[in-house]
Amino acid sequence: MMASELVPLEQALDHILSNALPMDETEVVLVTESLGRALASDLEVPADVPPADNSSVDGYALRCEDLGGGAILPVSARIPAGQAPAPLKPGTAVRIFTGASIPEGADAVVMQEDVKITPEGIRAPSETTLGQNIRRQGQDLAAGTLALARGVLIRPQEMGLIASLGLDRVPVYRRFRVAVLTTGDELVEPGQPLKPGQIHNTNAPTLRGLLAQMNCDLVMCETVRDIRSATSDALKAASELADLIVTSGGVSVGEEDHIRTVLESEGELTLWRLAIKPGKPLAFGKLNGTPLLGLPGNPASVLVTFLMVGVPYIRRRQGLVNAPVIGERLPAAFSVDRPSIRREFMRARKEQVNGQYVVTIYPNQSSGVLSSACWANGLAVIPEHSTVAPGESITFYGFHELTG
Ligand code: AMP
Ligand code: MG
Repeated sequence: MMASELVPLEQALDHILSNALPMDETEVVLVTESLGRALASDLEVPADVPPADNSSVDGYALRCEDLGGGAILPVSARIPAGQAPAPLKPGTAVRIFTGASIPEGADAVVMQEDVKITPEGIRAPSETTLGQNIRRQGQDLAAGTLALARGVLIRPQEMGLIASLGLDRVPVYRRFRVAVLTTGDELVEPGQPLKPGQIHNTNAPTLRGLLAQMNCDLVMCETVRDIRSATSDALKAASELADLIVTSGGVSVGEEDHIRTVLESEGELTLWRLAIKPGKPLAFGKLNGTPLLGLPGNPASVLVTFLMVGVPYIRRRQGLVNAPVIGERLPAAFSVDRPSIRREFMRARKEQVNGQYVVTIYPNQSSGVLSSACWANGLAVIPEHSTVAPGESITFYGFHELTG
């Protein structure tokens, strides 16, 4: 086939993402169980956080204007955290602890380490300033402002923030349902011995892991034989259960590649063959109204294409509004001598050499070599029609950035 028939990655993503609307259905879950979900509505701050001015240290609350001339202030009260304090008696200090509310009338807290204790009271430094060691009411979140916007990924810190609003439940998009079909007569499940001609099914566990990382609901995970009718039946069954069908293998040009042919004749094939390496035969379309992402069969291609195409698509459908992955520009510690018409995603490592971060690549970049991806901590991008000389800046995507 001609080179021009390969679809550039951006064009492919435009096509795939333009059809990727967030799911309609939302649900309310406990905040304690909301990790990894997408927030389904804006959350407004109902009341200031923190709810009152409070001390950021253990020490003494006082009024700065009482400090002139090395004055000694008697200690008139003690305020542990969790108590509602009485107003400060002018001319005195109160013992206060971290997190305790500042009494009315006090305008600074002096750390206990900076205070001299005498039998009559405490002497604080005269350079104590207004507001010192006071955490202001609403300094974290002011009432009436937006705490978190719809589409935010709930990470541990968002769980805490939502709890700080006083909420124990939170609206989220429902979990995204994915069916995985791996294809190939040669596949044998791990745990079973191989007969001649067979290999173990590698892609199913990789895809399970990737989908678990994305908090998807795996509604089906089956291996389909290279038989047209079996492929068609399995795809139809998957289409009834899932929001997305992900397949591996069977999208190339061979006679045993039934995923693409079933999609073409019984559904819609809207995209096929990308200008990326690995991952050229990727297919996208719809069967029975359910979108299908047809990944290539080679194990390293599955990982790369899922990360570059599957992840942004699924995130969008999950309702997430993610910042785009931008990667890092780092010097290459390798060379690419022959330019390719396809953008290449090399299994690579960001590592420190002589105190500087550089990108190294795994020596064998074959799409069948999954050990390249286990060695790697990310992908190095080699643009179309480009060579790379050592020391030249290239884009590196860390696996964490791609999946996080
Ligand atoms: P295909 O696109 O079906 O021709 O597959 C391309 C290559 O990937 C072949 O060498 C397959 O044996 C291999 N392959 C396909 N599916 C899997 C799988 N689930 N696990 C490991 N290798 C696979
Ligand atoms: Mg096959």
